[in-house]
Amino acid sequence: MTGGGPAVGAPDGPAGAGPTVEAVGARLALIRQRIEAAAAGRPVEVVAVTKAMGTVAVDVAVAVGLTSVGENYAQELVAKAAAGAGGTAVRWHFLGGVQRNKVRHLAPLVELWQSVDRPEVIEAIAARASGARVLVQVDLAGLAGRSGCRPADVAALVATARQAGLVVRGLMAVGPPGPAEAARPAFRSLARLADGLGLPEVSMGMSGDFVVAVEEGATMVRLGTALFGPRSAPGGTGR
Ligand SMILES: *Cc1c(COP(=O)(O)O)cnc(C)c1O
Repeated sequence: MTGGGPAVGAPDGPAGAGPTVEAVGARLALIRQRIEAAAAGRPVEVVAVTKAMGTVAVDVAVAVGLTSVGENYAQELVAKAAAGAGGTAVRWHFLGGVQRNKVRHLAPLVELWQSVDRPEVIEAIAARASGARVLVQVDLAGLAGRSGCRPADVAALVATARQAGLVVRGLMAVGPPGPAEAARPAFRSLARLADGLGLPEVSMGMSGDFVVAVEEGATMVRLGTALFGPRSAPGGTGR
């Protein structure tokens, strides 16, 4: 996407040099090959997940052409945006649990809300960001305590979001834990659900299971460790 790409900032600190453009670019090239082989000609967007990584990870993502950047924690996204991470090219995706009192800070920044899973979240986003683009997050595994709505509630939530003035682009899910192959039926049902509702975007697949997700119809994968390497422990760079 970018030609030479924007300048990349210095590493965050002495604790870790952070990911480099060379290393991430090389990983991305291999990832793109695997996606292409699995996608049967469909375009698949790679969202760079930079949670628990420093601002340098965002700079590197943009430098290798990944301008959609995902974060899970409101404070971390706001801080990175305020620090100018990634420059003006970044399109922030919010992936985490939406807390009402954080929406005000996120609303001017977030391009795609991927984790909309209940009416209260819809209300909060609609109040601050009319016309915002969202994905409805579905809990495919049916695990208690996990985020995401039940598959049976998806259609109603989509309707509620639309009534509130939000633009529903599609569905999102986190695959069940375990081997990637075990996630296949869940991914397949998410793609079917989106298709049945006429929704174009299917965000599924993370570092451990993105190939299976793409084979099953993902239009968007969310990759952190596969691009950047292991996340630093809490207290690491960028938090
Ligand atoms: C952390 C996270 C990712 C990326 O996870 P990796 O395994 O590092 O690729 C993707 N989606 C969501 C919702 C996440 O929380």
